[in-house]
Amino acid sequence: MTIFSKIIAGEIPSYKVAEDGSNYAFLDINPIAKGHVLAVPKMETDYLFALDDERLSDLILFSKRVAVAIEKAVPCKRIGVAVVGLEVPHAHIHLIPVHDIYDIDFNRPKLKLTSDEMKEIAGKIADFFV
Ligand code: 5GP
Repeated sequence: MTIFSKIIAGEIPSYKVAEDGSNYAFLDINPIAKGHVLAVPKMETDYLFALDDERLSDLILFSKRVAVAIEKAVPCKRIGVAVVGLEVPHAHIHLIPVHDIYDIDFNRPKLKLTSDEMKEIAGKIADFFV
């Protein structure tokens, strides 16, 4: 079971922002920007491009709905999208509010946000998710 499956199952806490029948979205624990979200399919699959067409389309359409909510909740120019997958072997899409290209640099020092700040951001995004 991956760490993300444990999060989805509620065995490990997360700052959830959205969920539907097949996907789950929550704040990245080491955000590179305020409102940095991971969108994850509930079915455990290591590599994003190993998902079958239906599940991949479903995840992307879910990510679009989450991105619209993030844009409303967090001041930014737009939502940058990244797929890395080198750390956690469970497909996921990074959704990152950006003002310029440097905001999507994974080598930047991670933001240190308090639990209250994380809760507040997650709550705002969740409120805008439809
Ligand atoms: P990647 O696999 O795309 O290289 O990176 C995995 C991402 O998942 C990282 O940005 C990391 O901060 C995030 N991450 C790893 N473990 C956890 C966790 O337990 N909870 C949350 N919310 N994020 C995690």
